[in-house]
Amino acid sequence: MKIICIARNYVEHAKELNNTIPKSPVFFIKPDTALLQKERDFYIPEFSSDIHYEVEIVLKISKAGKYIQPEFAYKYFDQISVGIDFTARDLQSELKKNGYPWEIAKGFDGAAVVGNFLDKNEFDLSNLNFKLLKNGETVQQGNTSLMIHDFSKIIAESSKYFTLKTGDLIMTGTPAGVGPVSAGDILTGFIEDQKIFEVSIK
Ligand code: ZN
Repeated sequence: MKIICIARNYVEHAKELNNTIPKSPVFFIKPDTALLQKERDFYIPEFSSDIHYEVEIVLKISKAGKYIQPEFAYKYFDQISVGIDFTARDLQSELKKNGYPWEIAKGFDGAAVVGNFLDKNEFDLSNLNFKLLKNGETVQQGNTSLMIHDFSKIIAESSKYFTLKTGDLIMTGTPAGVGPVSAGDILTGFIEDQKIFEVSIK
């Protein structure tokens, strides 16, 4: 299982990190060991002093495919969730400055939180609200209508390079409002008004 992620998929988030808006999606991959096991706490790793949350809608691939056309992309996932693309922002900034790949800043153990999965047919995927609360206060709010590249485009583009396999996850990018976590914080993720995950920071 792999976790395909897309960077800079919401204009306001790209701006807050002073990044340009890419014409085609920018992808990176987290290994399966990045998945935080259900009900586990997130431990801030010793190599970073600036771990950021990034709340993102997650798709679960239900059928293998390669070179998937955008108009058929909806056939390749049945379930959606919301999760966190944890990022060691200090490491990432250093790596970006040097022009190096940022894998370790995004792919370390526990860096992918994924909530419970829901049937995609229960929602209007082109107008889906999601949000992240930190200690009960909303810190990020997104709506899929604001994505630069929609789910179909993400599936089509990523499947040009990576064969999608059943069980693969796609993290579809974060809206503005990313920020740091500290030990003791509690993060809760929502799709519309449904609580989908809760994770404690240690
Ligand atoms: Zn992200």
